[in-house]
Parts: sequence; C-alpha cells; structure tokens
Amino acid sequence: MLLGILKETAPGETRVALLPESLKSVLAQGITVRVESGAGMGAGASDAAYTEAGATIAPSRLALLAEADVLPVVNAPGPTDQARLKPGAVVIGFLRPLETPHALVAAIARPATLFSMELVPRISRAQSMDALSSMATVAGYKAVIAAADRLPRLFPMLMTAAGTIPPARVFVIGAGVAGLQAIATARRLGAVVEAYDVRAAAGEQVRSLGAKFLDVDLGGISAEGGGGYAAELSEEALGRGRDLITRTAAHSDVIITTAQVPGRPAPRLLRKDAIEAMRPGSVLVDLAAPAGGNCELTQPGVEQNLNGVTLLAPLNLPAEVPVHASQLYARNILNFLALILKKGELSIDLGDEVLAGACVAHNGNPVNPRVAKLLEPVTKG
Ligand code: NAD
Repeated sequence: MLLGILKETAPGETRVALLPESLKSVLAQGITVRVESGAGMGAGASDAAYTEAGATIAPSRLALLAEADVLPVVNAPGPTDQARLKPGAVVIGFLRPLETPHALVAAIARPATLFSMELVPRISRAQSMDALSSMATVAGYKAVIAAADRLPRLFPMLMTAAGTIPPARVFVIGAGVAGLQAIATARRLGAVVEAYDVRAAAGEQVRSLGAKFLDVDLGGISAEGGGGYAAELSEEALGRGRDLITRTAAHSDVIITTAQVPGRPAPRLLRKDAIEAMRPGSVLVDLAAPAGGNCELTQPGVEQNLNGVTLLAPLNLPAEVPVHASQLYARNILNFLALILKKGELSIDLGDEVLAGACVAHNGNPVNPRVAKLLEPVTKG
C-alpha cells in the first residue's frame, strides 16, 4: 500500500495535504509514504523533514501518480495527472465536485475512487474531518488581519495623552464558521463588531462573542437549509437584508462578507449603493469571492480601489497561512483516512454514511446523486 503526497500545482497554493508530523499513524500501519519533492516547502516542510519522518522522496511526479494507491490532496489534480493515476487509486481532497464536476471526468473514468472533503456530512461523528470548517476558521482570521493591514485607522480604542482614538467598527455578514472567527479576531483587536446572518440561530453565537446581532424580519420565510446551512433566499427576502446592509455599511470601517449557500452562487448582498455609502478609507473583504462574491462589484481575485474604498476578493486565504492551514487540514485528512485504511489495507464501506456522503465516484461511476446529475450528458454520452 503506497500513500502519495503530491506537490500542489494550483496557482498560489502553498498548502500540503499531509505534513511530516502527520505520518506516524499511517507508517505505523505498514503503509509506504512517498512524497513529491518540494511538496511541503510552501508550508515549511522540507524533503528532509519528510524523510526523517519515515517517508521517501518519489523519483518523479509521474512515478508517484502511477504508483500511489491513496492520494490525499488539497486541490484536485488536473486532467493530465488524473489520466496517469493508478486504476483503483483513491483521491481525497477539495475536489469541487459540485462547482466543476467535469474537471473530474478523467479520474472517474480511470477509474479512481474520489472523496470530496467538501461533501463530508456535517454530523457529530465527522466533525474531526470537517476541513471546510478548518479552512473557514483560518480564512475568517486572516480576512480581519488583511483588513486591519489596509485600514488607515487603528482597530482598538486608545486613550493617549494626544487624545482618544475611537475603536474601529467592523461589520461581519454571514456568521457561520468564517464569520464567527472574523468576529472573534476583530474583537480581540479591539473593534466594535456588528454581524448579520439570515439564520436566527447565529444570533446567540454572535452575541456570545461580544458583538451585536442585526436581525432582519424575513416575513416568515425560513432561512434554514438543513445541515446547519442557510437556504437560498428569494429576491424579496434578499432585498430586506440588503437594506439593512447598506445602512450599516455607512458607519462601518471594515466589512467582512462570508455569506454562502452550498453548491450555489454566493448571494449578492452588497450593491453598488452600499459601497458608495462606505467612507473613503474603509475596507471590504469579500470572502465569498470563490463563489462569485457577496458584493456585485467584486472581481474574484482582484483588489480594487473604488472611490477610496478598498475591496479585497481573495480566492485562497488559507494558502496565506500555510503552516496552520496544512496542519488543520492534515488532521482532517488523517481522521478521514482512518475510515478507509484498516491495518494498512484499503477497506471502503460505502454503507458508512460519512464515506457515502463524501464519495464523488467509485468503480467508474459517480456516486453522489448531485454530481451524477451534473455529469449526466457526459456519462450517458
Ligand atoms: P457557509 O459557509 O455555507 O455560509 C456562511 C454563512 O452565510 C452561514 O452562516 C449562512 O447562514 C450565511 N448566509 C447564507 N446566505 C445568507 C444571506 N442571504 N444573508 C446573510 N447570511 C447568509 O456556512 P458555514 O460557515 O460552513 O456553516 C454554517 C453553519 O453550520 C454554522 O452554524 C456552523 O456552526 C454550522 N456547522 C455545523 C457543523 C457540524 O454540525 N458538524 C460543522 C460546521 C459548521
């Protein structure tokens, strides 16, 4: 049994799926671990650190792809790499099966077994494998740090001999995992924080972090979409949120937006008028940029200055904190691997709800019904 650790190839990616410190339990099962040279460099792990931990360095990426039985990855390998996988290999990572299912067709046809970390069900037993939450935590923290860095003001209230500086006002939209971490980070830096979420359940968590929760009357529309996620809202309900957001934007120094609905484009919550209402010098960080963005002016991946308002739309903030992002991700991956590796052998039981939920494809066919539907014309054709 050979487990391979690839060097990530996506532009700007610095994370690695497993760090040297994560290899102990895998090696203890008699599994061979082979690493592509340089795989951990972005996350501070040298080839030597991997070999000291008991892994070997692969002669080439090609050889590793052809030999590995299990490949934990951060991002899905490209189609050329997929076509070189060992038939029957298991690939586990952020495979974006709902966003870009067609980018996985070569691996499905190989056939490889694909598990998506995004699809791990949000049940108590799988919490230790919840990589989305791990990365959202890192992104929420880093978004506040990036905003504080750009803001031409201080975050904390300061009382000095030269006068008093008022605290920065931060507005967090979407109080899920990233939003709550953004609130906590902004509070630690001394800001006054307000937050908004469509899920009423978020209110208590927001308040427990010392922030003010802004409620919107949705006129009886349910915003709970199941699994702790929000539902996609009607235009009318979205409009009610937008009015509150535009009013709050006018007195905020920093806005961090994190609102998302799984598998759907991010809700457009900030219109041009909200940006126009913001004071020059204020900063908006749109963490929903990978899903299109919460602001209609967002250009994913591009930093803009809009009449003095800085709009950041980062696509991969966890990659800017690669050591801890990789460490958390590696733990999620190890916990997932424990479900499919028994005594050093692969043992995949799709009767297990965590594995069934996360499985994108097995034996050449899509397993996840949503992915199967998205791929219908391809698999039928
Ligand atoms: P997410 O990234 O899908 O969305 C971020 C936030 O945006 C959510 O809180 C959502 O309610 C909010 N949102 C969506 N549409 C909105 C709109 N139109 N206006 C305002 N806000 C909007 O969600 P997430 O952060 O991954 O998690 C959401 C919830 O799931 C949280 O309550 C979290 O605590 C819970 N959760 C549960 C588990 C578990 O049970 N194992 C694991 C992780 C998260």
